[in-house]
Amino acid sequence: MEQRRATVRDLRRRNRSTLLSTLFFDGPLSRHELGGRTGLSAATVSNVVGEMIDDGLVIEAGQVESDGGRPRVLLRVDPTYGHVVGIDVGETGVTMELFDLAMTRLAQVDRPLATPQPDVALVGEIIAAGFGTLLASAGVAESSLLGVGIGVPGTVEQGATVRVHAQTIGWDGVALPDLLRANGITVPVFVENGAKTQGQAEMWFGAGRGARHAVIALIGSGIGATVVTDGTTYRGATSSAGEWGHTTLSYGGRVCRCGALGCLEAYVGAEGILDRFRKARGGRAIPRVDEQSQLDFLLASTERSETAAAVVAETVGYLGAGIANLVNLFNPERIVLGGWAGMALGSRLLPEIRTATAAHALRHAYEQTSIVLCELGPDAVAVGAATLPVEALLSLGSDPRIRPKTPAL
Ligand SMILES: [Zn+2]
Repeated sequence: MEQRRATVRDLRRRNRSTLLSTLFFDGPLSRHELGGRTGLSAATVSNVVGEMIDDGLVIEAGQVESDGGRPRVLLRVDPTYGHVVGIDVGETGVTMELFDLAMTRLAQVDRPLATPQPDVALVGEIIAAGFGTLLASAGVAESSLLGVGIGVPGTVEQGATVRVHAQTIGWDGVALPDLLRANGITVPVFVENGAKTQGQAEMWFGAGRGARHAVIALIGSGIGATVVTDGTTYRGATSSAGEWGHTTLSYGGRVCRCGALGCLEAYVGAEGILDRFRKARGGRAIPRVDEQSQLDFLLASTERSETAAAVVAETVGYLGAGIANLVNLFNPERIVLGGWAGMALGSRLLPEIRTATAAHALRHAYEQTSIVLCELGPDAVAVGAATLPVEALLSLGSDPRIRPKTPAL
């Protein structure tokens, strides 16, 4: 009997989740269209939608004419039902953004960090102070927040205590949600690797939209990837999956930031590309002040410099080999190339990158894959982080702040 009750409850939750997700991504829709898209019966759609309207999650959004019959009422997720905050903790600063449930950005706060290895306590204080500023400038009450998502540069160990291991900013096992609670933030906190939150932003709102199997490949100074299989981000046993940059491209090759030899990142990450260019120039410094403008200089020099042309051609070859590994391992329908360096390379060299990939990938798998540029730009970590509490809402089909009265079996 208990078993049966659990099954009914699970089914109910699944139906709510399915209908709420469909309205979130594809709404406004009529009840009739919801039935068509989800395969649920008219009675189920009507019941569940009725509940969600009573809960305030779903509202009516006008009417459309139907063929001959009565006009159909359109439904959508109420954008003001709740709000979410997305935070990008990066090496150079903290960006915080506030969204409603239509994912309209209502406010943004940027706080630069003086050091690339910020003290954890200081970051906690910055976030707590930024929270107040965000809510005040948008006129949103704290009680309206469904949760906050945080993207961090490192591995996030999900568990009873969420811990961040971020070598590049000097964080070793930092319990970030506990830190925020100590700073007075009481809403649910979700933490994820920044490349994964950026990947989720592309999947929800950018170039990955509509794909069930995709890889979002991000190239900046380093390299990260989000692997989505059957609509879900692949995380692995302890959430560190997707470290594409540290797959070996050349046995015994160049030294990587991770300490190993021959990683893809040591060749195709901006730092690796520029180091190879510098060596090819006989050690002469590259003009321009920062990595971004130095990479632009390299890419703009290929017409007049054989050295630059050779380094760029080699980079395209290495990148193609790396993407081919993704194609052969995951059989994605789409590969989205992003990150600031990925965009610089892809916007000029996408056909060459495709050709180089084809040369290394299994033909059948390659033919099923399209390689495209990202759509949201290099700064989508915060909006991606804001999708984390929304994802909790959609997968539960109800407010993540409200715990079920009876614990699930
Ligand atoms: Zn490495």
